[in-house]
Amino acid sequence: MAPIIQTIHLKKIYRVGQERVAALNDVSIAIEPGEVCCIVGQSGSGKSTLLNQLAGLEKPTSGQVFIGKREISAMSEGELAVFRQKYLGFIFQSYNLLPSMTAAENVALPLMFKGVPRKERLKQAHEQLKLMGLTGRENHRPTEMSGGQQQRVGIARAFVGSPKVIFADEPTGNLDSATTRQVLYQMLSMSKQKGITYIMVTHEQDLALCADRVITVLDGKVQSDVVRSEQQKREGYQKLFGRQLPGEE
Ligand code: ADP
Ligand code: MG
Repeated sequence: MAPIIQTIHLKKIYRVGQERVAALNDVSIAIEPGEVCCIVGQSGSGKSTLLNQLAGLEKPTSGQVFIGKREISAMSEGELAVFRQKYLGFIFQSYNLLPSMTAAENVALPLMFKGVPRKERLKQAHEQLKLMGLTGRENHRPTEMSGGQQQRVGIARAFVGSPKVIFADEPTGNLDSATTRQVLYQMLSMSKQKGITYIMVTHEQDLALCADRVITVLDGKVQSDVVRSEQQKREGYQKLFGRQLPGEE
């Protein structure tokens, strides 16, 4: 199968005053369609920089990034904005919900950019919130919800238009460990059911027990890139969630 995401000799150099920081130094990776890929490594190793490059949020200093057949590293900002709205979903550590909007309106927002009529948008938002176990909270505003609930709204918003790839940078970084596992289980179940490629940055090595592929970065380089076996994944799901993913029990 052709990879859904590929980087070729990717480099990102930041200038800080006179200094040059090589946040990414010659990264060549490939991620297969439908994979759950965890990017792990210690703080400052380059995880967020790599994710931002894969998602077209920042331009590389040199090298290439492909999503499907499209070279996103060669797109203009305008082309990228359209591409992201059409094909990509994002989940943020700090949820990034709009405080003046209800849960349903927040979830419906990406569909507005796709030109879906308001009634249909809200219908899909309600369905997605139901899948996240948030029935009855549709008209609540973010400040009226717990962190776990807010992140479930964030997840619903990322999944609502069935994007090709979802990018998440430390999505459970602000949640306690029980909520982290619940939310992670929901993200994974949804990705697997919809066949969406899910790429998650985390500094918590343990969370990578749920991944199909684990890419470890150190000092801006890929230290290892491991595809995990079915057996390892079954054991990982059991350890993290106490159960298998839906449809795999
Ligand atoms: P991680 O997400 O693994 O903690 P980052 O990708 O955020 O790491 O950062 C990698 C390196 O690049 C660090 O040394 C960081 O200080 C540097 N860096 C990241 N973003 C910038 C920026 N916008 N300007 C300057 N240096 C940056
Ligand atoms: Mg980071």
